[in-house]
Amino acid sequence: MTVQDETTGPLTTEAGAPVADNQNSESAGAGGPVLIQDQHLIEKLAHFNRERIPERIVHARGAGAYGTFTVTADVTPYTRAKFLSEIGKQTEVFLRFSTVAGNLGSADAVRDPRGFAVKFYTEEGNYDLVGNNTPVFFIKDAIKFPDFIHTQKRDPYTGSQEADNVWDFWGLSPESTHQVTWLFGDRGIPASYRHMNGYGSHTFQWNNEAGEVFWVKYHFKTDQGIRNLTAEDAVALAGQDADSHQRDLREAIERGEYPSWTVQVQIMPAAEAAAYRFNPFDLTKVWPHADYPPIEIGRLELNRNPENIFAEVEQSVFSPAHFVPGIGPSPDKMLQGRLFAYGDAHRYRVGVNADHLPVNRPHATVAHTYNRDGFSYDGRHKGAKNYEPNSFGGPAQTSRPLWQPVPVSGPTGDHVAPVHAEDDDFVQAGSLYRLLSEDERERLVANLAGSIAQVTRDDIVQRAVENFRKADADFGKRLDAAVQAARSAA
Ligand code: NDP
Repeated sequence: MTVQDETTGPLTTEAGAPVADNQNSESAGAGGPVLIQDQHLIEKLAHFNRERIPERIVHARGAGAYGTFTVTADVTPYTRAKFLSEIGKQTEVFLRFSTVAGNLGSADAVRDPRGFAVKFYTEEGNYDLVGNNTPVFFIKDAIKFPDFIHTQKRDPYTGSQEADNVWDFWGLSPESTHQVTWLFGDRGIPASYRHMNGYGSHTFQWNNEAGEVFWVKYHFKTDQGIRNLTAEDAVALAGQDADSHQRDLREAIERGEYPSWTVQVQIMPAAEAAAYRFNPFDLTKVWPHADYPPIEIGRLELNRNPENIFAEVEQSVFSPAHFVPGIGPSPDKMLQGRLFAYGDAHRYRVGVNADHLPVNRPHATVAHTYNRDGFSYDGRHKGAKNYEPNSFGGPAQTSRPLWQPVPVSGPTGDHVAPVHAEDDDFVQAGSLYRLLSEDERERLVANLAGSIAQVTRDDIVQRAVENFRKADADFGKRLDAAVQAARSAA
């Protein structure tokens, strides 16, 4: 689809003056040097040099679309969030999909988790659910995140992603075994953004009008069905069309084939958390469906493409700290780190006024703060007082927190998160392996072996294989054989 430019009037400079010549720069005589007084030329070159803003360190490569979230069940017993208060109620959303490790220009069809970040433009402010297409993650404490991502990015000496670094970190971080099993399975390379599930992954707090607390996990089940690419097909597609997933999403929406997801939540009454068999705030674990069955609460549909990728996708910012009344954080240590890191990244990348760009600003309400100025401030507060308390009116606090307090006890310290009765780093990786069909297990083992076989050090290989053996003896045995075969064939 091409877009017709309907601008009328002459070409101008940024200051609005008409431009006489956009093809020839001004020079001293026809064959002489260019003149600095050609301000149109200078402005054009200078602006071009500043077209890029820092790309996201993670989730740099993405695509997005607008849509609608519709409530399909009564969840008022669990949360007082207004956008969830009535069956049939609709809220505008913007969803950004992404890969994690690749740079801005990298290919879409790669083995990598996918970001699944939803911004709900609610009447009580924006609620951002910054999830992934996997229900778990590699680590459970944000203090390990920069180290983990360094292993996924380019090595400082070779300038390439290195299997040694990737597997060294995973082997030494056994809590990653569940997510790595997921990643090297079929769902590790979705066929498109439309054909994958999304998960809030973390546990969040819901609280109702009576102040009762529930812990929840979100699931977005694709209505298009799960479709994946084999490792071989992905390599071919990534080579042919780096933008395959972005293109698929845009073209489907242009055709009127609006992708949708059925939204479910698992709900745990707060009183059950302490004695639950797994630490419910551990991001490397799911809550098995048999313990907390997912309940359908809504439908999310994407039905409008952004008009400008830079303005609406590159400059879109999401923060897990963007909550609304009735929803809040849990003590999940990875989530706690993200509550800081996302806003900080946006202030660095897009500036302190990022939340006031059209894609980011609340649609159904207006932000009233005493924060002022900074880069690209639009003067929206006009002459209103910029301090509080004051004697001239202006916004005032509500004295009602968005979420309920959580009891804590014990001394401060660099604590390992509490370990519950059935917690270890391997149990759920084993459950995942055992739910796969024989075909899926074969592909999982082959995918893992292909990657581990690129490692140059024996100790790193052995440690990696051991973790999968601890998840499931058959898994470890098959992987060991496949890695040895791949290494001796190399
Ligand atoms: P259940 O049998 O109740 O649930 C299994 C879940 O696994 C389903 O949600 C299913 O998703 C998903 N699944 C099926 N095939 C694959 C695959 N190839 N790769 C990844 N996920 C798949 O079991 P449990 O709840 O006890 O969980 C068992 C394991 O399933 C977990 O260890 C976890 O790895 C995985 N899982 C669990 C989820 C949860 O929230 N409990 C969510 C997603 C995965 P679908 O219905 O879409 O086919």
